[in-house]
Amino acid sequence: MSRILGVGIATLDIINRVADYPTEDSEVRVLSQRVCRGGNATNTLTVLSQAHQCSWAGVWVDEPDGQRILEDLQAHQIDVQHCRILPQGKMPTSYICLNQSNGSRTIVHHRDLPELSIADFQAIDLSAFDWVHLEGRNIPDTLKMLHHIKQQQPQLPVSLEVEKPRDDIERLFSIPDVLLFSRHFVQHQGFSSAKAFFTAIHQQAPQAMLFCAWGEQGAYAVQKPLSRVLHAPAYPPAQVVDTLGAGDTFNAAVIHGLLQGRTTSDILQTACRLAGEKCGCLGFDGVHFT
Ligand code: ADP
Repeated sequence: MSRILGVGIATLDIINRVADYPTEDSEVRVLSQRVCRGGNATNTLTVLSQAHQCSWAGVWVDEPDGQRILEDLQAHQIDVQHCRILPQGKMPTSYICLNQSNGSRTIVHHRDLPELSIADFQAIDLSAFDWVHLEGRNIPDTLKMLHHIKQQQPQLPVSLEVEKPRDDIERLFSIPDVLLFSRHFVQHQGFSSAKAFFTAIHQQAPQAMLFCAWGEQGAYAVQKPLSRVLHAPAYPPAQVVDTLGAGDTFNAAVIHGLLQGRTTSDILQTACRLAGEKCGCLGFDGVHFT
């Protein structure tokens, strides 16, 4: 069991399951509604919590949605002592349209909350952790956090999730040991394949192992120094029920595999298997490391 610190957001997800994605300006009735905790870093910690001791560092608001989020984190034994607590405000909310016909998820996100600052982060004793995972957001402070980690604990492995294109996000790439890219990010950069992207990005991140999940086509990875690009196919479940958090599950499985010292090819396969399993069930409770 390793001690993992995850830095990022927790949200309240309001998930409406619909038969088909609605056309604009139409009115549809949902098949069912589920309200639960979400957010990339906390989703990844939730999956990791079955095998590891996890801590979340983020901003938490003491309000009813915050309480609901806290209950879920506590149910997964995720420690929240490193959070910044705000007495007023609103937790971020994601309004999610889950299309039952193909499992796609369309997200409308509301956020009006300060980010975790570098001062908050510097107050954490990093010697208590075996791994730090960060979201690629709040770029100026995340860059300082990465430098702080490598100054304080040079041996502490760090992974960074790069999901959304953001100004200057490439400034973060030269520090983490592991970079976890989304297909959306890669395509937004103008690349049609993970392989071409890895080749282009390698100069900016020669120190890092690179991973990229590619939806129903599986995932790609490359070890350092840049060598053959590995690919693992997706593992489609009998029925795609819920793809929300598939990428977060993939990331959790990669971190778990690296902590176990497995080979990159094995990690890629097991991460795709776990993410596929996740697509076959609602939420994360049916997702198990083998
Ligand atoms: P995100 O959650 O960021 O949209 P992806 O869509 O890239 O992430 O999916 C992450 C991983 O989940 C993929 O690498 C794949 O292994 C798995 N996955 C995603 N969609 C499917 C699917 N329809 N069937 C099987 N596996 C899937």
